[in-house]
Order: sequence, then structure tokens, then C-alpha cells
Amino acid sequence: MTRPQDTTEAGWTRSTCPYCGVGCGVLMRRDGATGLEVKGDPEHPANKGRLCSKGSALAETVGLEGRLLAPRIKGMDSDWDTALDLVATRFRDTIAEYGPDSVAFYVSGQLLTEDYYVANKLMKGFIGSANIDTNSRLCMASSVAGHKRAFGTDTVPGTYEDLEDADLVVLVGSNLAWCHPVLHQRLLAARAARGTKIVVVDPRRTASCDSADLHLKLRIGSDVALFNHLLTRIEAEGALDADFLRHVEGLEPALEAARASDLAVTGLAPEEVAAFCDLWIKTRKVVTIYSQGVNQSTSGSDKVNAILNCHLATGRIGLPGSGPFSVTGQPNAMGGREVGGLANMLACHLDIENPDHRAVVQDHWAAPVMPTQAGLKAVDMFEGIHSGQIKALWVIHTNPAVSMPDAGRVAEALALCPFTVVSEITDQSDTARLADVLLPAAAWGEKSGTVTNSDRTISRQRRLLPAPGAARADWRILCDVAERMGWAEAFDYTNEAEIFREYAQLSGKAAALGRDFDISAFGSLDDAAYDALTPARWPQNALHQGGRFFADGQFFHAGGKGRILAVTHRAPATKRAPRFPFRLNTGRIRDQWHTMTRTGLSPRLSAHLAEPFVDIHPEDAAAQGISPADLVEVTSPQGRAILRARITADGQPGTVFAPIHWTGETAPSARIDQLVAPEVDPTSGQPESKASVVAVNRFAAQWYGFAVSTEAPDRAPLALADYWALARTPQGFRAELAGLTCPEDWETTARALFNLPEADVQILSDPRRGSTRLALMVEGRLRAALFIAPEPVAVMRDYLARLPGEAAEAVLTGRAPLDLPDPGPVLCSCFSVGVNTILTAIETGGLMSVEAVGHALQAGTNCGSCKPEIAALLARSQMKEAAE
Ligand code: SF4
Repeated sequence: MTRPQDTTEAGWTRSTCPYCGVGCGVLMRRDGATGLEVKGDPEHPANKGRLCSKGSALAETVGLEGRLLAPRIKGMDSDWDTALDLVATRFRDTIAEYGPDSVAFYVSGQLLTEDYYVANKLMKGFIGSANIDTNSRLCMASSVAGHKRAFGTDTVPGTYEDLEDADLVVLVGSNLAWCHPVLHQRLLAARAARGTKIVVVDPRRTASCDSADLHLKLRIGSDVALFNHLLTRIEAEGALDADFLRHVEGLEPALEAARASDLAVTGLAPEEVAAFCDLWIKTRKVVTIYSQGVNQSTSGSDKVNAILNCHLATGRIGLPGSGPFSVTGQPNAMGGREVGGLANMLACHLDIENPDHRAVVQDHWAAPVMPTQAGLKAVDMFEGIHSGQIKALWVIHTNPAVSMPDAGRVAEALALCPFTVVSEITDQSDTARLADVLLPAAAWGEKSGTVTNSDRTISRQRRLLPAPGAARADWRILCDVAERMGWAEAFDYTNEAEIFREYAQLSGKAAALGRDFDISAFGSLDDAAYDALTPARWPQNALHQGGRFFADGQFFHAGGKGRILAVTHRAPATKRAPRFPFRLNTGRIRDQWHTMTRTGLSPRLSAHLAEPFVDIHPEDAAAQGISPADLVEVTSPQGRAILRARITADGQPGTVFAPIHWTGETAPSARIDQLVAPEVDPTSGQPESKASVVAVNRFAAQWYGFAVSTEAPDRAPLALADYWALARTPQGFRAELAGLTCPEDWETTARALFNLPEADVQILSDPRRGSTRLALMVEGRLRAALFIAPEPVAVMRDYLARLPGEAAEAVLTGRAPLDLPDPGPVLCSCFSVGVNTILTAIETGGLMSVEAVGHALQAGTNCGSCKPEIAALLARSQMKEAAE
């Protein structure tokens, strides 16, 4: 199907990037065909025109490949009336028989605020349960809990400008360079202009360390001990802010706990800790940025409070260039927090357990019921299916069968649940494949609403493309179901603006109860004004000049004081054992987003790291007999994965790192979250995704393969491989394969794999080496090639990936002709510049700086995300030269 043309926009339309919490503004326009052109919006305050590699490739991800175009019931196409009637009936009947807590919604930080508001209203105010939780539970819940304990509300005190005004920026558990690239570029620009010092606190060396003055490579999970020590040094150095401390309580017990803390658990050298404390204490303008490395822990909330304690004790909060700053993972993680998307909160930062708060929300919604206590948080929600409590589940825009801890058990829960509804843009996700009812949802570019980024800036996402097939906006689908459940009047919205006004008006009532979140000025926007809304950061009142909180000492606890909390170090919940001697740290890579349902469509983004991997320390690799490019089997008490080994000293001995992105669609044996233990922080309910215990062993493959093709390989023969990983290329696909049992006939296997029974096949076999190479040609053009060897296949992958579709000759050499240099793996995604091209330019052109490389090759001159890697290549080259 092709997308219908619309003719509404000749110029550029402003919208917001749908990936990370930086919330960059984009300009988009129809490309004259069926897609979009996308570029950075120079007027958006978050990015001022910049986009990272992911944002720059947005236009490559709006095609209709894999889109779900009609409702589906048990795998069969259906129509909206039938599907909606079924969903409403099954939810209504389940509630009637088992009560409101027998149903649940699992939603997403990808939802727009208006979608979130309606989902929350339906579950909490009309169904009467708080069983609605969001995948932000996996990302931000510990920050929410830490903020509420310290400030009385979930308030982010600072703004992005603070990174530029600070003299010291500390990144704790945050690889800002890869996970919030545009913010990182803003920080680096400030550093170049004013010499900002940067400290990274992370158990692993990341791209963010390349521009750091100091890297504290602490042991996994020991952040509380480090910041407790800092608190004791603050006191010892006389750096407590007595004036500000009049507004804060809890210092003495916190100091007592901090003094009892054992710094040795960090594994850091005393002198590097002393250097950090000295720098922190002597620098008045300090911003401490923290992210998943802090939050995704069974002591995540305590880690957050240990950081907040130091800022509160020194009054370094809410001032230009000074404050703690939690950066959100998803585009609307913050909006979800504001609108009550978590199971333990109401909209507008109101508390579910507070009867006054409940009454205000119930009255505003004219709701028949309200839950009086928190609902099931994410991990408990899926466990609730296993226990039989949850009998109907609606998953909206998220992929828990891959992304939840103990993902295998979560997939089992989805299959077991008596009734599973999934709203999705694609039918090709691990979760969508388990749905009883699949509802086609509008995607980015087709939907309209608002999102809030990490510094509380509310921006519009705008619709420019018509939704394909029967796809609908999420709020519309939710209202359609609510209407069929008997609540038509409360859900009779005709557009997103109506929902936003109702929400903004509720925030005014929340503010009257002393809450921080107040956007009631938007409560009377007409539709045209909503449509024209420009990015706006709350609060916008005179009390909070510059959009910051707490410099005035006014907090949101009863009594108005902030709280310093006594926190103590706790080791990760799972204990290492002889069977599972390694700790598994999980995280993101630069060019992919979550489970790759969109970024995986982009050949450019797939070129940077095309295969799932595990980073293992050289000492451990030697002990385990693992060589570079070997496949390794990583096992935990929960599951097993097979991943490509990268041997690097970035991590610490006894720890391994693996990315989260690969799925049953792209590399079924590399679903990393099926290894993660479902241990959660007792306060926030956030899972510990960075400290599971695992074993690592070489995977004894009998054969290894590499393939390129114009079409996706056929899944049935692909499944014969014990390991496979698929990635896009401009010409089609590339795949890595391996297996324990060698097929008897590679030609037959290759024809089946590429679904090319009639192809002309060229074969080159080397019985002595045990290798086989096949090229499958149709009408003189290469359609597929397969390279098999008994060890990891050594061919020029990036060169071969460019050949399918061409009248390629000498494919079976696996190498580029001598007159055609191999560019190597893509490093700069924006301009598709490979590692070898950059190294050659450095060596032959005498290039000495990242800027010089950019000038020569353009690499790094657009989004800048690859600058740390270019710097690493320069350093490598300079070291090599010095050694010679
Ligand atoms: S930093 Fe990149 S992924 Fe994040 S919002 Fe900006 S363009 Fe999107």
C-alpha cells in the first residue's frame, strides 16, 4: 500500500523528535512523494537547529513497511466496530466478574500527553483501578521517588541552560554523548567557550568520558557510598550552606548515615575521590546530571537522594548553573509523570493516597469512582497475570515482551493472559505477535499533541502525514472503547485541544492545593492557539524566574521544607555465585532506539553497530578462552543469550555490558532483558537493569556465516541457525549467522534462505579450510551472497553490503578490488563515513583534530554524535605513530 498524498503543507511544519528526552524541535515537510523531509528547528530552545543521528534519520523511518493497517483479531484482519466492541465487552465483563483490579493498562513514554491523560482518566476515574503503569517505570521511577522524598513533589529543579552556565558538570550513570547527544553537544560547546569541567561517574568507560576531566570508574551500584562521602567532605570543609539549610530538614541523620558509609565499596582510589570532592566543593556552580545508571537499581531512589542531599546541603539548587538534573529517557517520560501515567500517582502531581487530591480529580472528571491506593507497578503487573489477578491487559505503544526484565517470563504472561490487547503501529514486534486483538495506531508524523522534555518544556508534535489504512490516534481509540463501556459523555472529545484544555484546567486546581505543576494559563486556549502553541517551559510565574525551582527555599512538603534523607549503601539485590560470576550491565547504543521498531528501518542507523554484542574485559576473555569476534553464550538464572564478543577494558573485570535493542524480529537469541532479574527498588518499583548476575562462556559454533541480500531472508530457514542477527543496508539486508550443526547442502540452504529457487548460483568451496561461498544471481545481478566458515567469517562486510542489486563481479573474494578502498564500518551516520576512510585521512592527510577530520570528510559536522569516536581514532593513530 502507498500512503495517500495530502496537499495541506507546502512549507515546513514544526514538531518534536519522538526519541529521547532532550525533546529536540524538528521541521518537517512532505517530500513531494509519500514521505517527509526532516531537519532541526533552529527556533526550538532544546536544540536550536541541531539533531543527533537518530533525529537526522527520522525521514527514513516513516515508510509504511511493516505497518499495521487494520484491526486484527486472533491474527485475522477485522474492522474497528468489531474490534472495539470486543475490547469493550471483554474489559466490561472481566470487571463485572472479577472487579476493577482484574484489568490493567501498560502504556508508554512514547504516548503524547493527551493520549496519556485519556488512558489515565479511563482507568483511574471510570474503571476505578490504578492498574495503569508505563514503561517509564523502567527508566525514571527512582528519580520520581527521590524527588518526592526530597522536594515533596516530582519536580526537576533546573533547565538545560544550567549545563551551559555551570563550571562543573558531573555525569552520574549517564552516557550523555550517546543517550542525549544534542544536550551533550550543548555541554561541549559551553566547555569550549568557558572551560567547564566535566566529571563522569560510571562503572564503564563510555563515549562521554572522552571529553571528561575525570572519570570515576566506581563499582556497579556503589553511588550512594560515593555521594555519602561527598556529603561528609562538604561538612568537613565547611561548605554547608547554613542560610539555605534553614529551609531543609534531615541534615544530621543524613550526615550520621554518611559518616557510617564505607567508601571502599566504590573500589575507587582515595586520591581520585579526593580530587572529585575537592572539585565539587570548590566549584559553586555545579550541575549533577544523572540517568539510568542511577535509576535502574534496587537502591535507585537512595542514589537519587544521595545526590540531592549534596545539592540541598550546599544550597546549590535552582540557581543558574547549579542543581541536580535527572534527564529523562523518552520523549514524553516527563509528560507521563505530569499527567499521572504511573500506577502510584494522579494527574498534575497529585497523590493517589491523598483524599483531598482524589476528590479534586474525581470532581474535575465527574468520575463515578476513584482508586484509593496505588495500582500494580510494571513488574508486579505482569506477575499479576501469572498469579491470575490480571485477566485483561491493554498494552499501548511499548514492547514489554522484549524490554521488561525477565522478558521471557513477561512474554509467557502476555501469551497466558486471557485477553491481551495491543495498540501498535506495526504487527512485527514481539509483543504484537502475542496479542489477541491488535489495534492499528497512528505513528509519529501522523499524530498531534504535546510532549514534555527533561527540562519541563512542553512542545507540540504535529500531524503532517495522513494515517495509513485504518490507523487512528491513541486518544481516539481509548475514547472509542470508553464510549462502548458506557462513558460516552466523559470521553466525547473531538480533538486533542479539548483534552489539553481539560488537563490544563485540572492543573490549576492542583496548584490551588499547593502542587508545583500549573499550566492553567493554557486552560482557555482555543483550537487555533493550541495548534500554534510554541515551546513553553513551566512554571511561568513570577516566583520562578528562569523556570527554576527551590532557590527560594520553598518546597512542597507540608511545612514547606525540603528534606535531606539518611541513605546507606546497599549492594545489588542479586548476589554473584560460582555459577554466575559476572555482573551484566545493560544500556543503549548511539544510533538505535529501544526495540528498533523505527530506527531499525534506517540503513544509516543500522550501519554503526549492526550486530548485538557483549563487551568483556580482556582479563576475563583470556580466562574464558574468548577471542575477538567469537560468539559467547551469556546465561543468567532467568535466561540465555548469544552475542558477539567485543574485548575491551572499558568495563571492569567481572562485569560485562550488552545493549538492550535486539528483539525476536532482529536477533532472537540476543534479547538481553530476558537475562535481567526482576528485582526492583522497594520505593520506586524500578527494576535493577544494570546488575544482574550471569555466566559467560564461548559459544562453540560449528559454523559461522555472513550474508547480504536484496530481500529479507526467509524466517523458516533462518531459524535453523542457532544465532542470527539481521540489519538493514541501503541495498537490502545483511545478516550474521552461526550454528551448532552444519547443513548438509549449502546451495539448497541458500536458495531457501533467500527464497531464490531459480537463481544462478556461483559456489567457491575450500574443503581444506571448510569454507563455502555462494553468490545468487538473477538476470546477471547479485541478489544474495552467503559466506560460511568454521571460524568467524573474515570478509569486508561494509563493501559486500553495497553489492546486492548490482551486476557485481568477483563477489566471492569477499574483498573490495584493490582500486576500491573499503570504507570500513560506518562511524559518522549522518554522512556515511567509515572508520577506514577516517583512519586513512588521518594518516595520509596528517589530520590532528576532530575539526580537521570534519573539514576533510564532513564526518562529525552535522549532529556531532560521532565526535568522541573520531577523537578516539585520532588518539589511536597518534599513539601508533608515537610507538613507531
Ligand atoms: S538528541 Fe537526538 S534523539 Fe534526542 S530528541 Fe534530539 S534529535 Fe531526538
